[in-house]
Amino acid sequence: MPDDSLHPERLESKRTTRLAPSPTGDLHLGNVRSLLLAWAMGRRAGWRVILRHEDLDASRTSIEACEAIEASLHWLGLDWDGAATRQSDDLEPYFEAMRRLESRRLVFASNLSRREIREAAAAPHGGGELRFPRELRPTDEDAWRFHGGETNFRVTTRPGPEIVRDRLLGTHRFDPAAEVGDQIVWTKAGRPAYQLSVVVDDDRQGVTDVIRGADLLPSAARQQRLRQDLGIAGDPTWWHLPIVHDETGRRLAKRDGDTGVEALRAAGVSADRIIGLVAWWCGLIEQPAPIAAAAIPELLDDARLRSMVTRETTEPLRFTHEDRRWLLHR
Ligand code: GLU
Repeated sequence: MPDDSLHPERLESKRTTRLAPSPTGDLHLGNVRSLLLAWAMGRRAGWRVILRHEDLDASRTSIEACEAIEASLHWLGLDWDGAATRQSDDLEPYFEAMRRLESRRLVFASNLSRREIREAAAAPHGGGELRFPRELRPTDEDAWRFHGGETNFRVTTRPGPEIVRDRLLGTHRFDPAAEVGDQIVWTKAGRPAYQLSVVVDDDRQGVTDVIRGADLLPSAARQQRLRQDLGIAGDPTWWHLPIVHDETGRRLAKRDGDTGVEALRAAGVSADRIIGLVAWWCGLIEQPAPIAAAAIPELLDDARLRSMVTRETTEPLRFTHEDRRWLLHR
């Protein structure tokens, strides 16, 4: 792994990272950890840091939720360059990507239900994920035309390994065809699915560095495939961070309302205390202590980055009862 590029002074100024929250509710501490590190790495290295609201799921997101997230980020002490964008603002770039896939005969309409797919798929597949096998691709020529109507569209996924080289987690080998098969790129809600929207936006927004939770590591492989399908040169540098679990070993989620930033704020917890706990989880300070977000970039010196890079662990972090007591001064 060429460690040189970790050296902030040597990084080109136009490198770009993104804060990409899904505005489905209050940010939880796992979100804060990813956002804080992405922001701090960007600020430390002089990269551009953009904010992109991933709000394509109209049933779960709203403009108010986007605004609330921006308010939480500001309160925590995080900022971004330029105006924040919302994916729902302009669907044209996603339509364009679909037309490109269509012209390469890579996408097809399919409204098979989950049950139908499950029943038709011969072999069980890993991780409990539903795999769409190539045998179910339509034979009808019309199905290979993209019309953007109320139909799911899937992209063909060729078999074979896809290698993800991650700066924090090392090299991982995936086989998207065996894991997910032909993945959905356009939903019957008439909107792009997550994988397509991320690939299109990371490309058009010039994102060079993707810093996010390790639960999305398999998605990196799928996004690499989609980039190839769309003819996008190269991949971003991936930095996947261990996800955060609660005391019982479950992933922190927005349903756990009391670990949300706004809920903690309402309970009288200061922003510096939240940042301090998260910074300690990341190994940036020796013990939990209140600290301003503005002080975090300078803690990300080469030695710390290097120790993060060599940690190579997908082991989750734990948000323990003691952490919670410390946050709440109890
Ligand atoms: N919007 C996603 C989330 O909040 C992140 C997607 C990404 O970083 O690619 O989990």
